[in-house]
Amino acid sequence: MTPTPTPRQVLREVFGYDAFRGPQAAIVEHVCAGGSALVLMPTGGGKSLCYQIPALCRPGTAVVVSPLIALMQDQVSALRQAGVRAAALHSAESGASAAATWRELQTGGLDLLYVSPERLLNGDLIERLADLPLALFAIDEAHCVSQWGHDFRPEYLQLAVLAERFRAVPRIALTATADPRTRSEIVARLGLEQAAVFTASFDRPNIRYLLRDKSDPKRQLLEFLASQRGHAGIVYARSRKRVEEFAALIKADGHDALPYHAGLAADTRGAALERFRHGSGVIVVATIAFGMGIDKPDVRFVAHVDLPKSLEAYYQETGRAGRDGLPAIAWMVHGAADVPPLRRFIEESDAAPAQKRIEHGRLDSLIGFAETSGCRRRILLDYLGETGSADCGNCDVCLEPNQGVDVTEPARKALSAVYRTGGRFGAAHLVDVLLGGDTARVRSLGHDQLGVYGIGRELDRLQWRSLFRQLTARGYVVAAADGHGGLEFGPEALVRPLLRGESRLEIRLPPPARERRGRASGGATTPAAGAESADPDLLAALKAWRLEQARQQRL
Ligand code: ADP
Ligand code: MG
Repeated sequence: MTPTPTPRQVLREVFGYDAFRGPQAAIVEHVCAGGSALVLMPTGGGKSLCYQIPALCRPGTAVVVSPLIALMQDQVSALRQAGVRAAALHSAESGASAAATWRELQTGGLDLLYVSPERLLNGDLIERLADLPLALFAIDEAHCVSQWGHDFRPEYLQLAVLAERFRAVPRIALTATADPRTRSEIVARLGLEQAAVFTASFDRPNIRYLLRDKSDPKRQLLEFLASQRGHAGIVYARSRKRVEEFAALIKADGHDALPYHAGLAADTRGAALERFRHGSGVIVVATIAFGMGIDKPDVRFVAHVDLPKSLEAYYQETGRAGRDGLPAIAWMVHGAADVPPLRRFIEESDAAPAQKRIEHGRLDSLIGFAETSGCRRRILLDYLGETGSADCGNCDVCLEPNQGVDVTEPARKALSAVYRTGGRFGAAHLVDVLLGGDTARVRSLGHDQLGVYGIGRELDRLQWRSLFRQLTARGYVVAAADGHGGLEFGPEALVRPLLRGESRLEIRLPPPARERRGRASGGATTPAAGAESADPDLLAALKAWRLEQARQQRL
């Protein structure tokens, strides 16, 4: 019997790499020792090795669940070239080849078996696996278990049976999705409560984030693309119609461009993907249907002509650029007009009200990112749970500074409105109060009697909404814990210095309404500089508020 190789030997001799990257070594060691794991690593981070190496170091076959046939085929052929005994079972495999795979499996001739979730769960494969020695289960693209992401695969939910049926077999779930809500969904749905969690940094330092105010998106895009001649890239647009329009426009401008959306025939899409992967300088203009499974390393840019639906989606979509580690650009034009269609889309879905609120909140985080005057990468990493990073020097804000306006006073008024109305109301109502709006809700709640009523007329509605989104994006206010969409104060360490005048806040604001209507343009406006602080008792109030919250938590 040959001695079991060590992980490092396998890394060098089978895969030809000198060293593990980031948390790979710890993950491999943990899984080799029989532990289960949840692995959070950005696209291109090297998740595959985290299960492929334990597959070769542990006795038995490793079963890898993967959502896309193309992904499985790529991996199996790469492994076979490296001399690893790997095979795949999925709907595109012929009966004869499935039978051969099955024979290999039964005779212990397979190190890795890739399966689609359908193939694993339908029929008797699970029963048959129960009699075989298994090294581990790997669940790749584990965010497919989340009902709220756009990659949801209902069969992934049934993978919960693995935890029950194969108690002794380690399970490793892997995803590039960093959104904390999705993480906890993966843990709950796949029964990974006992699993160790490994996280690599989600920063993609080689990606330059460039956002532009949308004025004439077609001209703006062509100008951007002119700086990218000969480079492969992806242009994301909201609808099939816009994809076709933009693809035609780009082609007419002399680029090698192809449309890609779910309305095209499967073979047309397959051909487009092939040409993108193997051609040089091909631009794919796509809806979000073009996504998971694009593992082309040298995508030099990802451009958005419409807002994605969340900051998480933006991160995933832009993450397809620069997987080779070389400089790449994430370019986006955005404007206030992008938001209403996305809101309608959420409202018109058949999701439950609580879910709709989550979706609106996710959209807010994206708008906050788009409107910020702070470093884009910092906002993005904060959102992904990596706090405390420095300004990056590689985004439009860092590279082209001085676009923000001081909104310290309006921000204090906003916080004051949050406090005076009891921390139970969303931005729409708070803005009504600040503007002195005469709505039925304002009157029935008696909010027209509050000291904050009508104190915020220096900004218009759109500007206030932008301010609230940015206060949310930066953590000054947070969604109230009761889940009804109200806003309350964020961490005291953040709120207090602002209220005490020890810190100031600069953000980008949309121009005031009269300028938006077209007349005088000019830069951003400075809202009533030097206005009196809205609420002198707010500091005391903040303290009382915290005490009350602490008391309620103890109850
Ligand atoms: P992910 O699934 O996280 O998106 P992959 O597993 O496809 O990433 O790996 C991305 C690329 O990085 C692949 O080309 C892979 O061979 C390479 N890679 C992974 N780990 C290492 C390593 N330790 N050293 C060098 N290259 C690596
Ligand atoms: Mg992968």
